[in-house]
Amino acid sequence: MNRKIIIITAPSGAGKTSITHYLLDKYRQLAFSVSAATRQPRADEQDGRDYYFLSLEEFQHKIRDNEFAEWEMVYEGKYYGTLKSELERIWNNVQIPVLDIDVKGAIHVKQQYPGMTLSIFIEPPSLGELERRLRTRGTETAETLQARVNKANFEISFKHHFDKIIVNDELGKACKQADTIIKEFLER
Ligand code: 5GP
Repeated sequence: MNRKIIIITAPSGAGKTSITHYLLDKYRQLAFSVSAATRQPRADEQDGRDYYFLSLEEFQHKIRDNEFAEWEMVYEGKYYGTLKSELERIWNNVQIPVLDIDVKGAIHVKQQYPGMTLSIFIEPPSLGELERRLRTRGTETAETLQARVNKANFEISFKHHFDKIIVNDELGKACKQADTIIKEFLER
């Protein structure tokens, strides 16, 4: 099998995690690419499943050793990155990595792996709706909520850099659209 990459990107709260899970459940050929991150794990998160949780020193060491396909300081002081070893692990398993990463990281991966990457941008129906979803999720403080909404506004301006755009106004419909896009990519 030739090596492929699927990137699902979106402002945080646009529903990319739900769409990613839907696709991972449906297609055995796909595998979630576990990123490295320096933020604290949330209550329900597990090291090695949701992220490889690293200290700042460990993360910086891996940057120096050129171990990342891409990395970003996604939020103030918090680093996130895709390890080359994670992509290799999945390819060696004869699967396709699915990267749930931020917009800048997505653009970098596309540039680094041209011709083998499908990039999908999930767009929230509006900023107001995005804010409402983030509030309902209950993972944010007033400051982090505002930071995420501001960042979302900026990220939406990059949507035309991606191969496909899906507006997530209704999750079921958005999943179906994603399904059609993936099916076509897998047959290539
Ligand atoms: P959260 O803290 O909510 O898990 O993730 C915050 C943001 O970081 C999300 O938009 C997520 O997609 C992004 N992210 C997660 N992993 C990576 C990564 O490896 N690289 C980049 N650039 N962004 C990531």
